[in-house]
Amino acid sequence: MYNNATPGPSPRIRKVKGRVEINIQQCKGCSLCITECKEHALTLSQEINKKGYRYAIAHNELCTGCVNCALVCPDAVISVYRTKVQKTSPASPQNIEQP
Ligand code: SF4
Ligand code: SF4
Repeated sequence: MYNNATPGPSPRIRKVKGRVEINIQQCKGCSLCITECKEHALTLSQEINKKGYRYAIAHNELCTGCVNCALVCPDAVISVYRTKVQKTSPASPQNIEQP
């Protein structure tokens, strides 16, 4: 019998979080990094840089730190930083947010 309390598939838990920094003034908007990012964490800007190119923008909340974007960037303008995600303890009455 189905029970609402039965746990479903657990959400994907990441052990590592990524953060990307892009030197936007050196970016030539070739989009190679955007194509390579499987997490869809990179997009092209609407604005242009001082060279006249739209440039890559990072959405770091989606980044896993896989480094693929940095490896394909022909101008090496991407830096990737990886941090370990801290384990959090299960919710207890002390750390449950009240409405
Ligand atoms: S490090 Fe990986 S996940 Fe993060 S932006 Fe680059 S390709 Fe995407
Ligand atoms: S691969 Fe490099 S030069 Fe090309 S859009 Fe991405 S950051 Fe810019």
